[in-house]
Amino acid sequence: MKKTILLAILLFCTTCVKHADSVYFDQIEKNDIELAKPVEGDWLYSHKEKGQSFEQFINSKHIVPTSESNIIYIRPIGDFNSLQNKQIELLREYLEIYFQLKTKILEMVSNDIIPESAQRIGYENNQQFLAGYILDNVLKKDKPLNRIALMGLTEVDLYPKPEWNFVFGLASYHDKVGVSSIYRLQDGILTSDNFNLCLSRLLKISSHEIGHMFGLHHCIAAECVMNGTNSMSETDKSSVRLCSVCQRKLNSGIKYNNEKRLTELKIYFQKNHLTEELQLINKDIALFQ
Ligand SMILES: [Zn+2]
Ligand SMILES: [Zn+2]
Repeated sequence: MKKTILLAILLFCTTCVKHADSVYFDQIEKNDIELAKPVEGDWLYSHKEKGQSFEQFINSKHIVPTSESNIIYIRPIGDFNSLQNKQIELLREYLEIYFQLKTKILEMVSNDIIPESAQRIGYENNQQFLAGYILDNVLKKDKPLNRIALMGLTEVDLYPKPEWNFVFGLASYHDKVGVSSIYRLQDGILTSDNFNLCLSRLLKISSHEIGHMFGLHHCIAAECVMNGTNSMSETDKSSVRLCSVCQRKLNSGIKYNNEKRLTELKIYFQKNHLTEELQLINKDIALFQ
């Protein structure tokens, strides 16, 4: 008798949760903003992308957290100053909320691990590291406990190939590792004046890259942090918000509480004075009040 009641309650609760989730996604879809027609220079002007529906995502091979693989790691590479270290800690805090997964910062490794053959003085007379070397020789074999994804972060500029001037970052989605540089996000030197602009860029770029590691393709459904971008100015104009379709994808694998995530994002944006980001999240939260 007791068993039957328990089973009935369990079935009822599962149905409730499913129902609550679909109500959530239907609600936040109201705040999805249609993408503007791409103009010359935009990512979508030169890349004819097909997008990825929720069903295509579900039918694709993608990772989901398990008890052995559930921690996101950040590996700082280089000599970061105190403002830059603050950015890394704020990035950690954000990723933990955004993906609702434990996120840890690994011990910094020195720039000395990059051999002469994988660096150069770039066209702006600045030091640059070969991004592929960091992926292949540093990050792919870096396997801290329960790693699900790993982001390397350098303070030195990166380049992907000798014929390229620079690159913001490079990733291997198959290996779930990526490397980004803070150098161009901070427009050369990080100060208290450009701190929040740099942070905003770092949050967008990192959540986008790790989103790819979780199987999310570029989004063309709405304004979304998973939209492809061609330049820093396009990244600056792009949204920090994950659209309703992409939130559904992320949530299907990680299975977090959607409203808890929204509330935590709101507190984070408020605390760090990220006003545009806060406005967006407030619009989502208003749908549930
Ligand atoms: Zn991308
Ligand atoms: Zn999207």
